[in-house]
Amino acid sequence: MRQAISTVDELLALVAVDRRDLPRLEEPSAFPLRVPLSFVQRMRIATPDDPLLLQVLPLGVETNAVDGFVADPLRETGGDLGPGIISKYRGRTLLITTGACPVHCRYCFRRHFPYSESALRGAMDASLAALATLDHDEIILSGGDPLSLSNSRLERLFEGLCRLPRLRRLRIHTRFPIIVPQRVDQALLELLCRLPVPLTIVTHVNHAQEIDASVAGGMRDLRDAGATLLNQGVLLAGINAMASTQAELAEALFDIGIVPYYLHQLDPVAGAAHFRVDDDQAQTIMAELRASLPGYLVPRLVREIPGETAKTAVA
Ligand SMILES: *Cc1c(COP(=O)(O)O)cnc(C)c1O
Ligand code: SF4
Repeated sequence: MRQAISTVDELLALVAVDRRDLPRLEEPSAFPLRVPLSFVQRMRIATPDDPLLLQVLPLGVETNAVDGFVADPLRETGGDLGPGIISKYRGRTLLITTGACPVHCRYCFRRHFPYSESALRGAMDASLAALATLDHDEIILSGGDPLSLSNSRLERLFEGLCRLPRLRRLRIHTRFPIIVPQRVDQALLELLCRLPVPLTIVTHVNHAQEIDASVAGGMRDLRDAGATLLNQGVLLAGINAMASTQAELAEALFDIGIVPYYLHQLDPVAGAAHFRVDDDQAQTIMAELRASLPGYLVPRLVREIPGETAKTAVA
């Protein structure tokens, strides 16, 4: 992580892409460029429209105001039950464990999230106490990326969570095993093996090119540790908004033991409007997917609408 690339020039030099072959770029001070070498190495050289490069490259158009694209599209802030706790759906409670991520995805719906006020941070005991008063079967560790926490901090968190009387399932939403596969180390695997409740790991992969041998190895280890592996991706213009690309992704995921779960319609977060795919086009892609893949490889196309009791199927 210390070697993560943080300037546009460094990144473009590594992938041998010339600025003149790209739209105008920006070096934003808030939510800056951040991508580790392990992910850069999976980008194709001299390819300005590489689907991995475009997920992390900050474009000038991000600063344009676009109607409907706002800082907090899911209205997640305010009314918290305790530090880092978001409880919107029955039976499962989401815990914002940290604001830190191994990569900055330009379309991230929490890119403007006030983590300093809302993440777990030092307040783990307060969060655990608040969680004990809620009625839920499942805790979802989210962020940021929960695997940004050290193994010792995760161990403390797991111990606290597993004392919750009603906990039946634990879930981790993470992109770490994809971006930095080495994060799946022996100490982490041992922690996961010791969990007394079933564990689901929901990865975030948007393109088959993100998957290489080291990602596959980490996923094998996570499965051996007993985790159920699901994936959620985001439908992104210019990156994966084609049926053939989505079909390749679904097959590549299943090859390494991951079942496609959700395909998200982009949340309208300020700075991400250029990734938008309209619902008609999304439906066309889904129809083609259903016609070419077994049902269990077709992710559910959903959108999150604030105030609803679950993710909403795009129909
Ligand atoms: C998406 C989300 C969940 C998980 O929803 P599932 O349909 O169970 O995957 C839970 N809590 C919040 C706040 C969410 O945004
Ligand atoms: S890994 Fe997830 S939380 Fe982190 S920047 Fe990417 S989309 Fe956002």
